Amino acid sequence: MNDYRYHYMFTTFDIETFDLEDFKYNSVNITAFRLVDVEDKRVSEKLAQMEKFQPIGQSILNRSGIIQAESALMFDSVYVFAKGLAALDQGHVLKPANLSCELEHPWEDGLSLYNYLNTASLHGLTGHIEFTEGRRSGFKLDLLKLKREQLQMVGQWNMGQGVNITDPAAFYESSVNNITLIVMTRAEKPYVMVREDKNLTGNSRYEGFCIDLLKSIANQVDFNYDIRLVPDHMYGVYDPESKQWNGIVRELMDKRADLAVASMTINYARESVIDFTKPFMNLGIGILFKVSESMPSRLFSFMNPLAVEIWLSMLGAYVLVSLTIWVVARFSPYEWRIPEPCCLNALEQESEPEVYENDFTLSNSFWFTIGTLMQQGSDLNPQATSTRIVGGIWWFFTLIIISSYTANLAAFLTVERMITPIENAAELAEQTEISYGTLEGGSTKTFFRDSKIGIYQKMWRFMESKRPSVFVDSYEEGIKRVLEGNYAFLMESTMLDYAVQRDCNLTQIGGLLDSKGYGIATPKGSPWRDKISLAILELQEKGTIQILYDKWWKNTGDVCNRDDKSKESKANALGVENIGGVFVVLLCGLALAIIVAVLEFCWNSRKNAQTDRQSLCSEMAEELRFAIRCHGSRQRPALKRTCSRCSPGTTYVPAALEMPHINGRTWYFHQDGHHHSHSPPAEAANPHTCCDPDEWDNVLVAEKHGL
Ligand code: ASP
Repeated sequence: MNDYRYHYMFTTFDIETFDLEDFKYNSVNITAFRLVDVEDKRVSEKLAQMEKFQPIGQSILNRSGIIQAESALMFDSVYVFAKGLAALDQGHVLKPANLSCELEHPWEDGLSLYNYLNTASLHGLTGHIEFTEGRRSGFKLDLLKLKREQLQMVGQWNMGQGVNITDPAAFYESSVNNITLIVMTRAEKPYVMVREDKNLTGNSRYEGFCIDLLKSIANQVDFNYDIRLVPDHMYGVYDPESKQWNGIVRELMDKRADLAVASMTINYARESVIDFTKPFMNLGIGILFKVSESMPSRLFSFMNPLAVEIWLSMLGAYVLVSLTIWVVARFSPYEWRIPEPCCLNALEQESEPEVYENDFTLSNSFWFTIGTLMQQGSDLNPQATSTRIVGGIWWFFTLIIISSYTANLAAFLTVERMITPIENAAELAEQTEISYGTLEGGSTKTFFRDSKIGIYQKMWRFMESKRPSVFVDSYEEGIKRVLEGNYAFLMESTMLDYAVQRDCNLTQIGGLLDSKGYGIATPKGSPWRDKISLAILELQEKGTIQILYDKWWKNTGDVCNRDDKSKESKANALGVENIGGVFVVLLCGLALAIIVAVLEFCWNSRKNAQTDRQSLCSEMAEELRFAIRCHGSRQRPALKRTCSRCSPGTTYVPAALEMPHINGRTWYFHQDGHHHSHSPPAEAANPHTCCDPDEWDNVLVAEKHGL
């Protein structure tokens, strides 16, 4: 009880008269008050005179310049009495009288003398002297503190204001040479590791990040240290049942250690019973899990690039677009055209020469849509604006879907798929098949125990009730359990990184659950805290802590070289959130096409109503009737009107007249005037038409544009 941690308050006013030799160098805190201000010039002069005139062999003063409080008070009393008497003597003639102790007769001048004493105001050895109602008032005391090798005045006390400390640093002073602090720690890779060499003694038995950090701090703050391992091998948690702390925290609370340098997490509960320095490392709680096995290749893995809902939506879009183009084509008058004469059978030619034909039958519509989706095209070509809008928007849709599919398929083929049963803490909490736990007696455990967040409370209930216990005594044990499988270990990210970097079978799942730091712990009110905090900040700014981190985390050889690329470039099936927009565009396109088709229909009906000289309504009804006879053939008889488009525009060129032979081959011109090919048009093979494919060699169909 004779070191810097103890503080003694002496009630004597004569501390200066004691020999403090034994206490000067061990930094014990000694504080006392003194009455005689020996530094005051008037006092020191008086003391010098006393010293000069003191009888030989009898020392009034203890040592040169120091007087005991009692002697000084006695001196001042005599002085005050003398002054009072002198004052009384000046006022009137003093009449000394014989007084008896038995009689109750007071001395006549007694009261006057008392009054003169009471009004005294002078400066004595014990400072300014004055009295209020017979009591000394207005005096002051000097506050002394043993500082380094001598007692020094560090403040004053007076009746009105109380204590005024003029040198506060004196009470936080602890930088005393050769001081040895007891440092408590806990073996934890790579913070503190016990060396295997049995010949080592003292601090050299330990190595690790914290040991290097402690060395740097001790150099900076200037202290020696003695490292000890915590007996119960725990960091320290509060047990609400026994109402006791354990581990390192308990050791610090009981002052069995001066510092705790370990991977000690700063948290609220601990901070209320011990002190922490500024954090030297930041971290959070992460989930350690075993690397999952690669997914075996599947026969239908070509389906993977797009999510199931996208495949289903595409099927829906295909049916919808096919039906839309079919309906729109039937509605739109511009999709109906007079077939080429050769393509009508004889009967049709004779009976109903004015027959309109529509390429977009139900099956053709489906064929057109699938042809473009597969990027092969078809011989069908929309003529009307509305059908072209449907076609165009469908081509745009196809372009986006096919490009996305191709790009994602490439990603899927290059990335090894992993089967990860859990992705984050929420998923972990949802299931019970994979058990999970934390370190026993650490802050991670109390994080879950004291959490107010739903999922963490749920996780705590699971962990608490799980048998056999999911809590482990050391990180090594936790990692071992993870490697055995079916167990996730909730641990601090710094230690997690260390484990993951060294074992390719381990991985982190999800992000960090919280954010906190490691600090050096001290008992409450320790004078070392601020100095070590300063040292930590300086080491951080100089980059020393980063160098130490790299030394213990990265440069230790046995690092696992995993291919990080596969981790980063994890391919995911494209879902609605990725390419859903293209479906929206498609739907808008279809809606536009329907509107245009209706407009075309109305426009045409109006025109035909004039030609046929009938009302718009009846014309429209008639047109509509044909349009919605959807089960009907792809042909319909021309309406009553004489179709102005029929004869004059289209030139029928009889066979064998003019056959363009280019390069010795026959060329076929389609009705749209754009297509030409070396083979007979598709219609030629249609049994519905008259033409035998061979006959096509002799036929030239020219469009009304004169092609
Ligand atoms: N570093 C932690 C602590 O201070 C240990 C843990 O719970 O992960 O308690």
